[in-house]
Amino acid sequence: TALIRKRLVIGNWKMHGARSTNATLLTGLCAGVSVVHNCDMAVCAPFPYLGQVSACLHGTGISWGSQDISKHQQGAFTGEVSADMLNDFGCQWALVGHSERRSLHGETDQLVADKAAAALSAGISPVVCVGETQAEQEAGLTHEVIQRQLQPVLALGAESLAKLVIAYEPVWAIGTGLTATPQQAQDVHAFIRAQLSGLNVPQVRILYGGSVKASNASSLFAMSDIDGALVGGASLVAEEFLRIAAS
Ligand code: PGA
Repeated sequence: TALIRKRLVIGNWKMHGARSTNATLLTGLCAGVSVVHNCDMAVCAPFPYLGQVSACLHGTGISWGSQDISKHQQGAFTGEVSADMLNDFGCQWALVGHSERRSLHGETDQLVADKAAAALSAGISPVVCVGETQAEQEAGLTHEVIQRQLQPVLALGAESLAKLVIAYEPVWAIGTGLTATPQQAQDVHAFIRAQLSGLNVPQVRILYGGSVKASNASSLFAMSDIDGALVGGASLVAEEFLRIAAS
């Protein structure tokens, strides 16, 4: 990780949690955060629990975010949550374009970019997720897919890009226990970095996601273009998540 990019580890709880188990997890994070140095930490929780997360993490240095955001500002969009609403509660991050949203909810590359723009308009930093499926990887299409996914995001321009985070999550590694090797991940991260090169945004952090655990975090973080991780399953256990952030 280059010095201009502070490491960032974000937990993606997905659709997991309950008030009681969240309280245990959050208390554990607060109690252990002092072991983490030189690493920004955040958790992205389901919407109903963001108030609980915000209250528990207040003053700890751990920030929080949503797992999705509307591209619309306000109006007749039943079920949607706007960037201004999230900002109203002090939300710092919003995941956009997670592969589960792309594949299960039909989110297009353009919609993902629109959501990123909506987040930025309210001062929320989008974490734009990209990544190829197993079939795409086997067909040698990884770079092509990522380039296509990034294209409308790059079109937001340098000023916007400077404030967002990119997460590379190969779909075949998400929740499967299969992690990309550090070199495999580094190669794609370097490719993403090259896509940004004309925009002069060296501060953009590129996170790796897909079965990150305490046991594989250090070798991933040793790679020059891997600036942290987006962690699913392992973010649901305080000790494990803290060990990843301390790696
Ligand atoms: P995982 O999920 O760490 O459980 O593989 C990562 C993600 O989907 O963000």
